[in-house]
Amino acid sequence: MAENYFKKYPDTKGFFGAYGGAFIPPQLEDEMQKINDAYFSISKSHKFISELRSIRKHYQGRPTPVYYCNRLSEKYGGRIYLKREDLNHSGAHKLNHCMGEALLAKYMGKKKLIAETGAGQHGVALATAAAYFGLECEIHMGEVDMAKEHPNVVRMEILGAKVVPATHGLKTLKEAVDSAFGAYLEDPITTIYCIGSVVGPHPFPMMVRDFQRVVGIEARDQFMEMTGELPDAVSACVGGGSNAMGIFSAFMDDEECSLYGVEPSGRSLDPGEHAATMTLGKPGIIHGFKCYMLQDDQGEPAPVYSVASGLDYPGVGPEHSMLKDLGKVHYEHVSDKECIDAFYELSRLEGIIPALESAHAVAHALKYAKNNPQKSILVNLSGRGDKDIDFVVDTYGLPS
Ligand SMILES: *Cc1c(COP(=O)(O)O)cnc(C)c1O
Repeated sequence: MAENYFKKYPDTKGFFGAYGGAFIPPQLEDEMQKINDAYFSISKSHKFISELRSIRKHYQGRPTPVYYCNRLSEKYGGRIYLKREDLNHSGAHKLNHCMGEALLAKYMGKKKLIAETGAGQHGVALATAAAYFGLECEIHMGEVDMAKEHPNVVRMEILGAKVVPATHGLKTLKEAVDSAFGAYLEDPITTIYCIGSVVGPHPFPMMVRDFQRVVGIEARDQFMEMTGELPDAVSACVGGGSNAMGIFSAFMDDEECSLYGVEPSGRSLDPGEHAATMTLGKPGIIHGFKCYMLQDDQGEPAPVYSVASGLDYPGVGPEHSMLKDLGKVHYEHVSDKECIDAFYELSRLEGIIPALESAHAVAHALKYAKNNPQKSILVNLSGRGDKDIDFVVDTYGLPS
Protein backbone atom coordinates (compact mmCIF):
# COMPACT_ATOMS: atom_id res chain seq x y z
CA MET A 1 0.00 0.00 0.00
CA ALA A 2 2.75 2.48 0.92
CA GLU A 3 4.56 1.42 -2.24
CA ASN A 4 1.37 2.15 -4.18
CA TYR A 5 1.29 5.62 -2.67
CA PHE A 6 4.84 6.32 -3.84
CA LYS A 7 4.09 4.91 -7.32
CA LYS A 8 0.96 7.00 -7.59
CA TYR A 9 2.36 10.33 -6.31
CA PRO A 10 3.61 12.22 -8.11
CA ASP A 11 2.13 11.19 -11.48
CA THR A 12 4.37 11.18 -14.56
CA LYS A 13 3.88 14.94 -15.03
CA GLY A 14 4.89 15.61 -11.45
CA PHE A 15 1.43 16.24 -10.00
CA PHE A 16 0.38 15.40 -6.48
CA GLY A 17 -3.36 15.62 -7.08
CA ALA A 18 -3.97 19.21 -8.17
CA TYR A 19 -0.54 20.44 -7.05
CA GLY A 20 3.04 20.39 -8.28
CA GLY A 21 3.83 20.08 -11.99
CA ALA A 22 6.50 22.10 -13.77
CA PHE A 23 5.60 25.66 -14.78
CA ILE A 24 8.97 26.60 -16.25
CA PRO A 25 10.48 28.60 -19.12
CA PRO A 26 10.66 26.52 -22.32
CA GLN A 27 14.49 26.60 -22.31
CA LEU A 28 14.45 24.63 -19.05
CA GLU A 29 12.07 21.89 -20.16
CA ASP A 30 14.82 19.78 -21.75
CA GLU A 31 17.06 20.06 -18.71
CA MET A 32 14.29 19.13 -16.26
CA GLN A 33 13.49 16.11 -18.43
CA LYS A 34 17.17 15.12 -18.39
CA ILE A 35 17.33 15.42 -14.60
CA ASN A 36 14.13 13.39 -14.32
CA ASP A 37 15.46 10.66 -16.65
CA ALA A 38 18.80 10.61 -14.85
CA TYR A 39 17.04 10.34 -11.51
CA PHE A 40 15.07 7.28 -12.64
CA SER A 41 17.97 5.51 -14.35
CA ILE A 42 20.90 6.45 -12.08
CA SER A 43 19.40 6.70 -8.61
CA LYS A 44 17.77 3.29 -8.85
CA SER A 45 21.04 1.61 -9.85
CA HIS A 46 22.83 -0.69 -7.44
CA LYS A 47 26.01 1.39 -7.69
CA PHE A 48 24.29 4.67 -6.77
CA ILE A 49 22.32 3.13 -3.92
CA SER A 50 25.33 1.45 -2.34
CA GLU A 51 27.45 4.60 -2.67
CA LEU A 52 24.74 6.71 -1.01
CA ARG A 53 24.27 4.10 1.73
CA SER A 54 27.98 4.13 2.48
CA ILE A 55 28.07 7.96 2.59
CA ARG A 56 25.14 8.02 5.00
CA LYS A 57 26.80 5.60 7.34
CA HIS A 58 30.47 6.61 7.25
CA TYR A 59 30.27 10.33 6.49
CA GLN A 60 26.93 11.60 7.81
CA GLY A 61 26.83 9.39 10.87
CA ARG A 62 23.49 7.72 10.14
CA PRO A 63 21.35 6.31 11.55
CA THR A 64 20.67 9.24 13.88
CA PRO A 65 19.13 8.15 17.19
CA VAL A 66 15.55 8.35 18.45
CA TYR A 67 15.61 9.75 21.98
CA TYR A 68 12.99 9.63 24.76
CA CYS A 69 12.68 12.99 26.56
CA ASN A 70 12.46 11.99 30.22
CA ARG A 71 12.27 15.35 31.92
CA LEU A 72 10.18 17.03 29.24
CA SER A 73 7.62 14.20 29.34
CA GLU A 74 7.54 14.31 33.13
CA LYS A 75 6.78 18.03 33.12
CA TYR A 76 4.27 18.15 30.25
CA GLY A 77 2.73 14.66 30.38
CA GLY A 78 2.54 12.22 27.51
CA ARG A 79 5.65 10.57 26.07
CA ILE A 80 7.77 12.83 23.90
CA TYR A 81 10.40 11.36 21.55
CA LEU A 82 12.83 13.10 19.20
CA LYS A 83 14.30 11.89 15.93
CA ARG A 84 17.73 13.50 16.27
CA GLU A 85 18.41 15.00 12.83
CA ASP A 86 20.35 17.70 14.70
CA LEU A 87 23.05 15.01 15.00
CA ASN A 88 23.22 14.44 11.25
CA HIS A 89 26.57 15.79 9.95
CA SER A 90 26.39 19.60 9.42
CA GLY A 91 23.62 19.87 12.00
CA ALA A 92 20.34 19.36 10.16
CA HIS A 93 18.33 16.96 8.01
CA LYS A 94 19.24 18.89 4.87
CA LEU A 95 22.44 16.98 4.21
CA ASN A 96 20.26 13.93 3.47
CA HIS A 97 18.96 15.38 0.21
CA CYS A 98 22.11 17.41 -0.55
CA MET A 99 24.31 14.30 -0.64
CA GLY A 100 21.71 12.63 -2.88
CA GLU A 101 21.42 15.62 -5.22
CA ALA A 102 25.21 16.11 -5.39
CA LEU A 103 25.81 12.41 -6.04
CA LEU A 104 23.30 12.58 -8.89
CA ALA A 105 25.06 15.72 -10.20
CA LYS A 106 28.37 13.85 -10.17
CA TYR A 107 26.91 10.91 -12.10
CA MET A 108 25.42 13.40 -14.62
CA GLY A 109 28.83 15.03 -15.15
CA LYS A 110 27.82 18.43 -13.73
CA LYS A 111 30.59 20.79 -12.60
CA LYS A 112 28.77 23.22 -10.36
CA LEU A 113 25.95 23.23 -7.80
CA ILE A 114 23.72 26.32 -7.47
CA ALA A 115 21.15 26.89 -4.74
CA GLU A 116 19.28 29.32 -2.58
CA THR A 117 19.36 29.28 1.19
CA GLY A 118 17.17 30.77 3.95
CA ALA A 119 18.70 30.31 7.38
CA GLY A 120 21.88 29.14 5.66
CA GLN A 121 21.35 25.49 6.56
CA HIS A 122 20.75 24.37 2.99
CA GLY A 123 23.73 26.42 1.82
CA VAL A 124 25.98 24.86 4.43
CA ALA A 125 24.71 21.37 3.64
CA LEU A 126 25.19 21.85 -0.10
CA ALA A 127 28.64 23.44 0.36
CA THR A 128 29.50 20.40 2.48
CA ALA A 129 28.33 18.04 -0.28
CA ALA A 130 30.22 20.07 -2.91
CA ALA A 131 33.44 19.83 -0.89
CA TYR A 132 32.93 16.09 -0.46
CA PHE A 133 32.45 15.50 -4.19
CA GLY A 134 34.89 18.16 -5.44
CA LEU A 135 32.22 20.26 -7.20
CA GLU A 136 31.98 24.07 -7.42
CA CYS A 137 29.22 25.64 -5.34
CA GLU A 138 27.36 28.97 -5.57
CA ILE A 139 24.82 29.87 -2.86
CA HIS A 140 22.30 32.73 -3.11
CA MET A 141 21.11 34.20 0.19
CA GLY A 142 18.95 37.20 1.16
CA GLU A 143 20.96 40.07 2.62
CA VAL A 144 18.76 40.17 5.71
CA ASP A 145 19.35 36.46 6.34
CA MET A 146 23.10 36.90 5.74
CA ALA A 147 23.23 39.37 8.63
CA LYS A 148 21.01 37.25 10.89
CA GLU A 149 22.75 33.95 10.19
CA HIS A 150 26.28 35.24 9.81
CA PRO A 151 28.05 32.13 11.17
CA ASN A 152 26.49 30.07 8.37
CA VAL A 153 27.82 32.54 5.77
CA VAL A 154 31.32 32.09 7.19
CA ARG A 155 30.83 28.32 7.28
CA MET A 156 29.90 28.22 3.59
CA GLU A 157 32.93 30.33 2.70
CA ILE A 158 35.24 28.11 4.74
CA LEU A 159 33.81 25.12 2.86
CA GLY A 160 34.78 26.80 -0.42
CA ALA A 161 31.38 28.02 -1.64
CA LYS A 162 30.71 31.43 -3.19
CA VAL A 163 27.89 33.28 -1.37
CA VAL A 164 25.87 35.70 -3.53
CA PRO A 165 23.63 38.23 -1.70
CA ALA A 166 20.02 38.71 -2.89
CA THR A 167 19.44 42.44 -2.54
CA HIS A 168 15.90 43.01 -3.84
CA GLY A 169 12.50 42.97 -2.10
CA LEU A 170 12.45 41.71 1.47
CA LYS A 171 15.96 40.21 0.98
CA THR A 172 15.02 36.84 2.45
CA LEU A 173 14.30 33.34 1.15
CA LYS A 174 11.93 34.11 -1.73
CA GLU A 175 14.35 36.66 -3.21
CA ALA A 176 17.21 34.17 -2.80
CA VAL A 177 15.24 31.63 -4.87
CA ASP A 178 14.63 34.25 -7.61
CA SER A 179 18.32 35.12 -7.66
CA ALA A 180 19.56 31.51 -7.74
CA PHE A 181 17.06 30.56 -10.44
CA GLY A 182 18.33 33.45 -12.58
CA ALA A 183 21.92 32.26 -12.22
CA TYR A 184 20.93 28.69 -13.11
CA LEU A 185 19.08 29.84 -16.26
CA GLU A 186 22.35 31.32 -17.53
CA ASP A 187 24.01 27.91 -17.68
CA PRO A 188 21.75 24.92 -17.13
CA ILE A 189 24.11 22.54 -18.94
CA THR A 190 27.20 22.38 -16.70
CA THR A 191 25.42 23.52 -13.53
CA ILE A 192 22.57 21.96 -11.60
CA TYR A 193 20.09 23.67 -9.30
CA CYS A 194 19.92 21.79 -6.02
CA ILE A 195 16.65 22.78 -4.40
CA GLY A 196 16.63 22.95 -0.61
CA SER A 197 13.23 21.46 0.06
CA VAL A 198 10.33 19.51 -1.45
CA VAL A 199 9.46 22.50 -3.66
CA GLY A 200 10.18 23.77 -7.17
CA PRO A 201 9.28 22.20 -10.51
CA HIS A 202 9.03 18.42 -11.04
CA PRO A 203 11.15 16.31 -10.41
CA PHE A 204 12.54 18.16 -7.37
CA PRO A 205 9.69 17.66 -4.87
CA MET A 206 9.82 13.92 -5.58
CA MET A 207 13.63 13.64 -5.53
CA VAL A 208 14.05 15.59 -2.30
CA ARG A 209 11.27 13.59 -0.63
CA ASP A 210 12.81 10.32 -1.71
CA PHE A 211 16.26 11.32 -0.39
CA GLN A 212 14.65 12.33 2.93
CA ARG A 213 12.67 9.09 3.30
CA VAL A 214 15.62 7.59 5.18
CA VAL A 215 14.58 9.70 8.21
CA GLY A 216 11.14 8.10 8.42
CA ILE A 217 12.33 4.60 7.63
CA GLU A 218 14.90 4.74 10.43
CA ALA A 219 12.60 6.50 12.91
CA ARG A 220 9.70 4.07 12.48
CA ASP A 221 11.97 1.05 13.03
CA GLN A 222 13.74 2.67 15.98
CA PHE A 223 10.48 3.69 17.64
CA MET A 224 9.02 0.17 17.22
CA GLU A 225 12.17 -1.35 18.65
CA MET A 226 12.14 0.99 21.68
CA THR A 227 8.46 0.76 22.52
CA GLY A 228 6.99 -2.24 20.67
CA GLU A 229 4.35 0.01 19.10
CA LEU A 230 3.83 2.94 16.76
CA PRO A 231 3.74 6.55 17.99
CA ASP A 232 0.25 8.01 18.41
CA ALA A 233 1.42 11.17 16.68
CA VAL A 234 4.30 12.43 14.55
CA SER A 235 5.13 16.12 14.41
CA ALA A 236 7.45 18.13 12.16
CA CYS A 237 7.88 21.78 11.26
CA VAL A 238 6.99 22.79 7.70
CA GLY A 239 8.87 25.42 5.75
CA GLY A 240 8.99 23.95 2.27
CA GLY A 241 8.29 20.64 3.96
CA SER A 242 11.27 18.33 3.39
CA ASN A 243 11.95 17.19 6.96
CA ALA A 244 8.21 16.68 7.45
CA MET A 245 7.85 14.62 4.24
CA GLY A 246 10.91 12.62 5.25
CA ILE A 247 9.41 11.46 8.52
CA PHE A 248 5.72 11.36 7.45
CA SER A 249 6.45 9.16 4.44
CA ALA A 250 7.08 6.12 6.66
CA PHE A 251 3.71 6.45 8.41
CA MET A 252 1.43 6.91 5.38
CA ASP A 253 -0.28 3.56 5.98
CA ASP A 254 -0.52 3.77 9.74
CA GLU A 255 -4.10 4.94 10.20
CA GLU A 256 -3.71 4.94 14.01
CA CYS A 257 -0.86 7.45 13.80
CA SER A 258 -1.79 11.15 13.46
CA LEU A 259 0.54 13.34 11.43
CA TYR A 260 1.03 17.03 12.29
CA GLY A 261 2.76 19.63 10.13
CA VAL A 262 3.62 22.77 12.10
CA GLU A 263 3.98 26.14 10.42
CA PRO A 264 4.92 29.53 11.87
CA SER A 265 2.26 32.06 12.89
CA GLY A 266 5.11 34.48 13.69
CA ARG A 267 4.04 37.64 15.49
CA SER A 268 0.35 37.25 14.57
CA LEU A 269 -1.89 36.00 11.75
CA ASP A 270 -2.05 39.52 10.23
CA PRO A 271 -0.66 39.91 6.67
CA GLY A 272 3.14 39.97 6.57
CA GLU A 273 3.52 38.84 10.19
CA HIS A 274 3.59 35.07 9.64
CA ALA A 275 4.27 32.27 7.14
CA ALA A 276 1.20 30.11 7.87
CA THR A 277 0.80 29.01 4.27
CA MET A 278 -1.48 26.04 4.92
CA THR A 279 -3.67 27.93 7.37
CA LEU A 280 -4.25 31.06 5.28
CA GLY A 281 -2.94 30.38 1.77
CA LYS A 282 -4.82 29.71 -1.47
CA PRO A 283 -3.69 27.58 -4.42
CA GLY A 284 -1.31 29.46 -6.70
CA ILE A 285 1.89 29.10 -8.71
CA ILE A 286 5.28 30.01 -7.28
CA HIS A 287 8.81 29.12 -8.43
CA GLY A 288 7.61 26.70 -11.10
CA PHE A 289 5.01 24.65 -9.21
CA LYS A 290 1.46 24.82 -7.87
CA CYS A 291 0.76 24.75 -4.13
CA TYR A 292 -0.96 26.51 -1.29
CA MET A 293 0.49 29.98 -1.27
CA LEU A 294 0.18 33.21 0.69
CA GLN A 295 -0.83 35.81 -1.88
CA ASP A 296 -1.30 39.56 -2.07
CA ASP A 297 -4.25 41.23 -3.88
CA GLN A 298 -2.54 40.70 -7.26
CA GLY A 299 -2.01 36.98 -6.65
CA GLU A 300 1.74 37.51 -6.20
CA PRO A 301 3.57 35.78 -3.32
CA ALA A 302 2.85 37.81 -0.17
CA PRO A 303 5.54 39.04 2.22
CA VAL A 304 6.11 36.51 5.00
CA TYR A 305 7.84 36.49 8.35
CA SER A 306 8.97 34.00 10.99
CA VAL A 307 11.54 34.11 13.75
CA ALA A 308 12.90 30.96 12.05
CA SER A 309 14.51 31.99 8.74
CA GLY A 310 14.15 28.46 7.35
CA LEU A 311 10.36 28.62 7.64
CA ASP A 312 9.61 32.01 6.05
CA TYR A 313 8.49 30.90 2.60
CA PRO A 314 5.12 31.91 1.07
CA GLY A 315 4.69 28.55 -0.69
CA VAL A 316 4.87 24.94 0.50
CA GLY A 317 5.59 21.56 -1.06
CA PRO A 318 2.92 20.30 -3.48
CA GLU A 319 2.68 16.97 -1.66
CA HIS A 320 1.81 18.76 1.58
CA SER A 321 -0.83 20.73 -0.31
CA MET A 322 -2.40 17.46 -1.44
CA LEU A 323 -2.09 15.81 1.99
CA LYS A 324 -3.92 18.78 3.52
CA ASP A 325 -6.82 18.40 1.07
CA LEU A 326 -6.90 14.63 1.69
CA GLY A 327 -7.00 15.27 5.44
CA LYS A 328 -4.09 12.86 5.84
CA VAL A 329 -1.91 15.43 7.64
CA HIS A 330 -3.17 18.08 10.10
CA TYR A 331 -1.51 21.47 9.75
CA GLU A 332 -1.22 23.60 12.86
CA HIS A 333 0.60 26.80 13.68
CA VAL A 334 2.93 27.94 16.44
CA SER A 335 3.89 31.55 17.25
CA ASP A 336 7.34 33.07 17.70
CA LYS A 337 6.73 33.24 21.42
CA GLU A 338 5.74 29.57 21.74
CA CYS A 339 8.79 28.69 19.62
CA ILE A 340 11.19 30.61 21.88
CA ASP A 341 9.64 29.09 25.01
CA ALA A 342 10.08 25.60 23.53
CA PHE A 343 13.66 26.46 22.50
CA TYR A 344 14.54 27.14 26.15
CA GLU A 345 12.46 24.27 27.56
CA LEU A 346 14.27 21.68 25.43
CA SER A 347 17.63 23.28 26.18
CA ARG A 348 17.12 23.37 29.93
CA LEU A 349 15.21 20.13 30.49
CA GLU A 350 17.09 17.89 28.06
CA GLY A 351 20.38 19.62 27.23
CA ILE A 352 19.47 19.85 23.55
CA ILE A 353 19.50 23.29 21.86
CA PRO A 354 17.11 23.01 18.89
CA ALA A 355 17.09 25.07 15.69
CA LEU A 356 14.33 27.70 15.84
CA GLU A 357 12.65 25.85 12.96
CA SER A 358 12.61 22.58 14.91
CA ALA A 359 11.49 24.39 18.08
CA HIS A 360 8.14 24.98 16.32
CA ALA A 361 7.57 21.22 16.19
CA VAL A 362 8.72 20.89 19.81
CA ALA A 363 6.25 23.62 20.86
CA HIS A 364 3.45 21.73 19.13
CA ALA A 365 4.50 18.50 20.85
CA LEU A 366 4.40 20.19 24.26
CA LYS A 367 0.80 21.28 23.64
CA TYR A 368 -0.11 17.82 22.33
CA ALA A 369 1.47 16.12 25.34
CA LYS A 370 -0.41 18.37 27.76
CA ASN A 371 -3.74 17.60 26.05
CA ASN A 372 -3.01 13.87 25.56
CA PRO A 373 -1.27 12.62 28.70
CA GLN A 374 -1.79 8.97 27.67
CA LYS A 375 -0.22 9.32 24.24
CA SER A 376 3.17 9.31 22.59
CA ILE A 377 4.48 11.82 20.07
CA LEU A 378 7.55 11.56 17.87
CA VAL A 379 9.07 14.90 16.83
CA ASN A 380 11.44 15.30 13.91
CA LEU A 381 14.11 17.47 15.53
CA SER A 382 15.25 18.75 12.15
CA GLY A 383 18.34 20.67 13.28
CA ARG A 384 20.52 22.03 16.05
CA GLY A 385 20.30 25.60 17.33
CA ASP A 386 23.92 26.73 17.42
CA LYS A 387 23.24 29.04 14.48
CA ASP A 388 20.46 30.78 16.45
CA ILE A 389 21.95 31.27 19.91
CA ASP A 390 23.24 34.86 19.56
CA PHE A 391 20.05 36.01 17.85
CA VAL A 392 17.81 34.45 20.52
CA VAL A 393 19.74 35.79 23.50
CA ASP A 394 20.18 39.27 21.98
CA THR A 395 16.51 39.52 21.00
CA TYR A 396 14.71 37.72 23.82
CA GLY A 397 17.26 37.51 26.63
CA LEU A 398 17.68 34.50 28.89
CA PRO A 399 14.59 33.19 30.70
CA SER A 400 14.34 34.24 34.34
C1 LIG B 1 15.57 24.41 6.41
C2 LIG B 1 15.15 23.90 7.68
C3 LIG B 1 13.82 23.59 7.94
C4 LIG B 1 12.72 23.87 6.97
O1 LIG B 1 12.80 23.17 5.78
P1 LIG B 1 11.84 21.96 5.43
O2 LIG B 1 12.09 21.71 4.01
O3 LIG B 1 10.43 22.42 5.72
O4 LIG B 1 12.22 20.84 6.30
C5 LIG B 1 13.50 23.02 9.15
N1 LIG B 1 14.44 22.80 10.08
C6 LIG B 1 15.74 23.09 9.88
C7 LIG B 1 16.72 22.81 10.95
C8 LIG B 1 16.13 23.64 8.68
O5 LIG B 1 17.41 23.92 8.49
